[in-house]
Amino acid sequence: MKTGNIRTQASCADDYDSESISVESARHRILEKITAVSDTETLALKQGINRVLAEDIASTLDVPGHTNSAMDGYALSADDLPDTATRQYHVIGTAFAGRPFKEPCHAGQCVRIMTGAAMPAGTDTVVMQEHSEKITDTEIRLGTGHQRGQNVRHAGEDISKGSVVFKQHHYIQPADLGVLASIGIAEIKAYRRLRIAFFSTGDELRSIGEPLDTGDIYDSNRYSLHGMLSQLNIEIIDLGSVRDKLDDLREAFQTATSQADLIITTGGVSVGEADFVKNIVEEMGKIHIWKIAMKPGRPVTFGELDHAVFFGLPGNPVSVMTTFYQFVLPAIQQLSGQGARTPLTFEVLAGSALRKRPGRYECQRGILSRNESGQLTVSATGKQGSGILTSMSRANCLILLDEDCSGIEIGDYVTVQPLNTFL
Ligand code: AMP
Ligand code: MG
Repeated sequence: MKTGNIRTQASCADDYDSESISVESARHRILEKITAVSDTETLALKQGINRVLAEDIASTLDVPGHTNSAMDGYALSADDLPDTATRQYHVIGTAFAGRPFKEPCHAGQCVRIMTGAAMPAGTDTVVMQEHSEKITDTEIRLGTGHQRGQNVRHAGEDISKGSVVFKQHHYIQPADLGVLASIGIAEIKAYRRLRIAFFSTGDELRSIGEPLDTGDIYDSNRYSLHGMLSQLNIEIIDLGSVRDKLDDLREAFQTATSQADLIITTGGVSVGEADFVKNIVEEMGKIHIWKIAMKPGRPVTFGELDHAVFFGLPGNPVSVMTTFYQFVLPAIQQLSGQGARTPLTFEVLAGSALRKRPGRYECQRGILSRNESGQLTVSATGKQGSGILTSMSRANCLILLDEDCSGIEIGDYVTVQPLNTFL
């Protein structure tokens, strides 16, 4: 521990630290050191959700496969549409989705057609049912003002045969499963699932169900970590809470390195006397980063243990989550083969004043909502201490405040990052 300079007063300079690096530069350095997994496996399509494609996928089909109707109505030739006055047509049959009408349609005729039904020969235009007048079961009348080709979906307008639908490294989302199903793909080749191990460190930590002695707390970090990780399609290895004892920690690290691609620990990385994590990682592997100018979140360590990537997150429950979103998540994305994605951020009006001292980048917890005039505004969740985990539960976004920012007034614009678009 550093000694000397005994302080009697807090100062603004507390938030400046010449040894710490910026969030952006930390993220950059982290990503530079991470090489994506290269092993692949073949999966049934549904298993592909939140996985990363290991190959380009080209379509062997046109989607839709046939030109078809976008409406329930009457199909006819555009050349035969009424131009100056209403006209009567003979209905020669009905085309259903999956049950085409196979005879050609001639002048003066039309075909009753349902949404999704293939357009019969001789037709290229659909007049919607609501714009027709039924005279008998086989006779209708149509008015003027219709457009050539209206209400028709063309073969291949969504996906054309031979086109590449998704490229290698694509991260598969719900709509993508549907798209792949629409071109008849039963199996995909994906990069293998990541294995991520984590454990908490701290003598004060107890598991749910154990009695609490003075100063003891329940280990909440493992639960919020589990929650964030379980939104990703990865293998989660929960190694429990570990005492601040060198041997116990060493053993936990050994177990983790033998099983995981990425290891996350919480706690024990500050300069306190029981903070052994950094020393062990230095002994067993390499540490790249020590301090990051971010609040909450300082200190964060990043390193390598054998073939595994290591993140030593702070112990404070809010810091665990904010550092996870800022550093661990992009690292997971990079490791999984999809490449780190830039999170969605945008500017909104501050609906409450936000306190901040210059020096560190801050992730305050915010609530995005609309004010009386319908404008999107953001307010802080209240107390912003790194131990106030309920501030994270109440938040639906992070408010990102630059290092130089010295506070925000109501009506200023601030950058927010919605929380549920992270994962
Ligand atoms: P540390 O980084 O180990 O100095 O811990 C910082 C603060 O976070 C201390 O108040 C710890 O008690 C608290 N803390 C550490 N680990 C956890 C955990 N797993 N769950 C809840 N709080 C924790
Ligand atoms: Mg501790």
